Amino acid sequence: MQILSVAVPVPITGLFDYSFDSENEPFKCESGQRVWVSFGNRKVVGIVVEIKKQSDLPSNKIKPILKRLDPSVSLPKSIMQLCQWAANYYHHPIGEVFTAALPTLLRSEQPIPVPQTTLIQLTEAGKDTDPASITRAPKQRQLLEQLQTHNPSTRSAITQLGLGGSPLQSLLKKNLIEKYQVNELLEPEANDLPTLAEPKLPLNAEQQHAFDSIEKGLGSYQCYLLEGVTGSGKTEVYLQIIEKVLQNNQQVLVLIPEIGLTPQTLSRFKNRFNCPQTVLHSGRTEKQRLQGWQHAYSGYARIVIGTRSAIFTSFENLGLIIVDEEHDSSLKQQEGFRYSARDLAITRAHQQNVPVILGSATPSLESLYNAEQNRYTKLPLTERAGAASQPIFRVIDLRGRPLDGGLSQPLVKLIRQHLEQKKQVLVFLNRRGYAPVLMCHECGWISECRNCDTRMTLHHSPRYLHCHHCDHKRSVEQVCPECNAKELNPVGLGTERAEQVLKELFPDIPVMRVDRDSTRKKNAFEKMISEIQAGEPCILIGTQMLAKGHHFPNVTLAAILDADSALYSSDFRGMEKMGQLLTQVAGRAGRGKQQGEVAVQTHEPEHPLLRCLFQEGYPSFAMHLLRERKLIGLPPYGYIALIHTQSPFREKPQELLQRLSDYLPEDSTIEVLGPIPSVMERRAGRYRFQLMLRSDNRQTLHYYVSQCRLFFEETKIDRDIRWQLDIDPIELF
Ligand code: ADP
Ligand code: ZN
Ligand code: ZN
Repeated sequence: MQILSVAVPVPITGLFDYSFDSENEPFKCESGQRVWVSFGNRKVVGIVVEIKKQSDLPSNKIKPILKRLDPSVSLPKSIMQLCQWAANYYHHPIGEVFTAALPTLLRSEQPIPVPQTTLIQLTEAGKDTDPASITRAPKQRQLLEQLQTHNPSTRSAITQLGLGGSPLQSLLKKNLIEKYQVNELLEPEANDLPTLAEPKLPLNAEQQHAFDSIEKGLGSYQCYLLEGVTGSGKTEVYLQIIEKVLQNNQQVLVLIPEIGLTPQTLSRFKNRFNCPQTVLHSGRTEKQRLQGWQHAYSGYARIVIGTRSAIFTSFENLGLIIVDEEHDSSLKQQEGFRYSARDLAITRAHQQNVPVILGSATPSLESLYNAEQNRYTKLPLTERAGAASQPIFRVIDLRGRPLDGGLSQPLVKLIRQHLEQKKQVLVFLNRRGYAPVLMCHECGWISECRNCDTRMTLHHSPRYLHCHHCDHKRSVEQVCPECNAKELNPVGLGTERAEQVLKELFPDIPVMRVDRDSTRKKNAFEKMISEIQAGEPCILIGTQMLAKGHHFPNVTLAAILDADSALYSSDFRGMEKMGQLLTQVAGRAGRGKQQGEVAVQTHEPEHPLLRCLFQEGYPSFAMHLLRERKLIGLPPYGYIALIHTQSPFREKPQELLQRLSDYLPEDSTIEVLGPIPSVMERRAGRYRFQLMLRSDNRQTLHYYVSQCRLFFEETKIDRDIRWQLDIDPIELF
């Protein structure tokens, strides 16, 4: 009889003991295996964490497991270790942490399907046929030649050669070849093809230095901060290091912010390497995700590219982790189990003793600080790669200037100049919709959301009001609900309105809007990207979707319509995020041979931080911010955690946090701030409050957070109240 300590996917801290009668079983249970157990009145998949001889519970309290699931799939030690660390650090129930590490289909008792692939091989007749005898169909001849040198070949390899359509069908019909299915994971696809599908670029001196440093460090832990200005060729450095890791027969994990926004990055990996690669993200079907997981787990996929949850992927032989755009907030999970994929990547690399590369043109203050403390090796790329040079900034002072739909005369003139030179222009405005407010001209009524403390955004085509916080939609009022007046006016500027204005100003030039509304349809974004890459003069107007790592060589002007809104953010990271976003937008200009320009419209041209950003660049801007953080003891100079509560009743979440605050012992080494309402107190019909803990000492902070967790678990809490812990939050309010 074995006693198993099992992590069960329930919101309760700790493991649960079950028994397993191994007497009549061929295998014992081991750590990492999946078991089917009953919990309360449910049946769930648990993960065996520990095997014990004895339990602290009386034996009549211990239930046997219902069954052991397919032992050929079990979590490797590295993932067990990572999940245990994460549960500890984020004070989150371990069963729920494992949920993040397993695709949904492995969280069911169903047998695991074997991923299949199609192979094509020659028939006896095919072997005996001389390709030269096929004179009229060059592609069929080419396919026969290919198979006579590579017999069998996978169907995807043949498709890659452009022979997958009618040439394949014709040879099948002629009985020269046949196809059959095999277990994909056992098929060393493309192993006999060269690893490089396209030649690598000769590195410049800085790239070479970065490459050499990382290459020397392969095989053991080190964190590298690749701080490369936009367009400096970070990706090329990644690709060349990856090649080395592949040559060592190891796998690579690449984390990127949002896959949908970076189709170009994916194709650069695909184009470079002739090896199985897997993409993991939330847009894939459950079946695809399982398959992707199997690809990584079995060692079949050599490169795995994924969004934040891919940090929990099991590998057979991991050799390197890359976190691209390490400053990006999408690497942080903001609901439920709130983890930072970047921080977990560093922990994982450390645990598995492999290097990790953090890449960004605008690193987070945390990473810059760690580099300064010599915990990370900083590798700067200060010049743009190839023939491109850094863009020139022009600040347009908006004070006292008339604006036409948010555009000043000098900006319109500048846009015209670039278009006349047959160039493309990118206009950035981080607000989608037509206008952020609809207002009654008579009485000042404004369109508010009935569920949230915020306004509904007016959308034009189609015309409706939309709350971007709770997704509530409604039709637009014909008359003012307060005073019946007919004149309801849009106030403020969104991308839809800016698009309209640009179309009126430049009627002969295509204007493309890129935001979440215009790219909702499948492939809509890819289509726009290929149109942009065709290089004809056009104007792109869009939100931060346009700022993400795209390479549009013919864009020579990036215009920032409104640099001011970010200056008034109440969050301690507001300024940092603004600097990152503006630098990334600016980085889209002048990536080709032409000099780029960046135009920034602002009412505060003298703002010292804006000036520093534009005149001295992001690194010195970041140093300023770091000095400020030090003065106020916020990260990276102090450690913080937030305790969130929410409920449909206003008093309840506040009252609960007050009790928590009273429960915590007095201590001069920890500051407890609050309870205070969130900036948007009511959202989606729920009132939200928070308590902030801050300490100069990480251990102290964590001790207090564990006390908070204890309080919540011991306290009887009304069912309509939800609470959550957020360690190292990236937003305070
Ligand atoms: P980043 O990721 O730093 O923004 P990219 O990797 O996208 O930069 O590189 C920008 C452009 O420069 C790409 O078109 C890339 O092909 C090119 N490039 C990168 N490295 C080199 C090099 N060593 N020589 C010539 N061109 C390069
Ligand atoms: Zn009115
Ligand atoms: Zn709302």
